[in-house]
Amino acid sequence: MAVPDLDGLLADGVRGQRVLVRADLNVPLSNGTIRDDSRVRASVPTLRRLADAGARVIVTSHLGRPKGQRKPELTLRRVAPRLAERIGRGVSFCEECIGEKAAAAVAELGDGQILLLENVRFHAGEEKNETGFAADLAALADLYVNDAFGTAHRAHASTTGIASLVDRAVAGDLLRSELEHLRVVRDPERPLLVLLGGAKVSSKLAVMEALAPHADVLAIGGAMAYTFIAAAGKPTGASRVEQDMLEDANCVVEAVRAAGRRLLIPTDHLVAKSLEAGASTRVVETIPDGWIGVDIGPETARRYAEEAAKARTIFWNGPMGVFEIQDFAAGTARVAEAVASSDATTVVGGGDSLAAIQQLGFSHRITHLSTGGGASLEFVQGLALPGVAALER
Ligand code: ADP
Ligand code: MG
Repeated sequence: MAVPDLDGLLADGVRGQRVLVRADLNVPLSNGTIRDDSRVRASVPTLRRLADAGARVIVTSHLGRPKGQRKPELTLRRVAPRLAERIGRGVSFCEECIGEKAAAAVAELGDGQILLLENVRFHAGEEKNETGFAADLAALADLYVNDAFGTAHRAHASTTGIASLVDRAVAGDLLRSELEHLRVVRDPERPLLVLLGGAKVSSKLAVMEALAPHADVLAIGGAMAYTFIAAAGKPTGASRVEQDMLEDANCVVEAVRAAGRRLLIPTDHLVAKSLEAGASTRVVETIPDGWIGVDIGPETARRYAEEAAKARTIFWNGPMGVFEIQDFAAGTARVAEAVASSDATTVVGGGDSLAAIQQLGFSHRITHLSTGGGASLEFVQGLALPGVAALER
């Protein structure tokens, strides 16, 4: 089904209308400063188009996990000036996201002005998708735009509940663009190479099982590789292995075999004595006792790079090693370079994977950098995203 979008809304005119935008301004913070404002920047196009068209723009978002309580360190107040700077317009802030104070702040908005409301997750009703809370949000606005791709896989009040309580609910430009690009992975030009790495098998196993028959080649790196190696009965030394996932790992192996696809697992490894910069390291084919696998080895990196050169579509989620430590970053860098120089349509998702691509300076050579890790994984494995389904009525 087609998802109604901002073009349709703007075509009918929004001047003077109160438009509530659910954005994803969930930026990483350290000691109260914004470490990376990619999500703020990604939210700008939709907000600017609405403001330019004369809408009275009300922005909501969550920040972190306050679990239904007001946590001063998770206020969106300090995001307001950054948003203003990136949009190039003033952004006012209200310390409430519902109720009288919020209503008064909305009433003060002139055409084309922008208001940011406080963290929606300060209210327990948000994550519980309580109708009452959704109605309180809906009461502030005439129209609703969901642009929070990163939260589209969650059925919360501000992402789904509100949609049926306003006159019209549409997808913003970021959400639309994410869906368009990720559809290319769902329905790819072949061969499709899926590169999966990162820390945890448990959180990505469902994706792997779903993608295994879909991808022509599934190449595994990062810590999750050692769970697969352990499942095959080979030594993993002191590497990070999820013991309770061995059986599930074998199910993935079986699913790939049954579908006649290829599963690539590292055949050589960079191992270290400890997870610290300067630790002594070796390249090995069999991981010795007491050593930790910290990166794919050079031969594995070469093979994965070769697959990237042959692919027509590449989806990458999760670094190949502990790339934050320079000594352990070579495998991730080699694969990133191969993905960046491939002629394939390339989609990279996941917070750490994006950071790696950015650090290496390859961002501009990737077709699409997905802002939502969890949401992009759920979407490419064929699941419906509640935040999108709510717009499709
Ligand atoms: P993303 O955010 O891209 O989805 P994840 O959060 O799943 O990726 O995983 C990223 C983390 O995995 C990084 O912090 C990285 O250091 C870690 N990691 C990768 N390889 C290993 C390894 N061999 N041992 C321990 N941690 C690893
Ligand atoms: Mg991560």
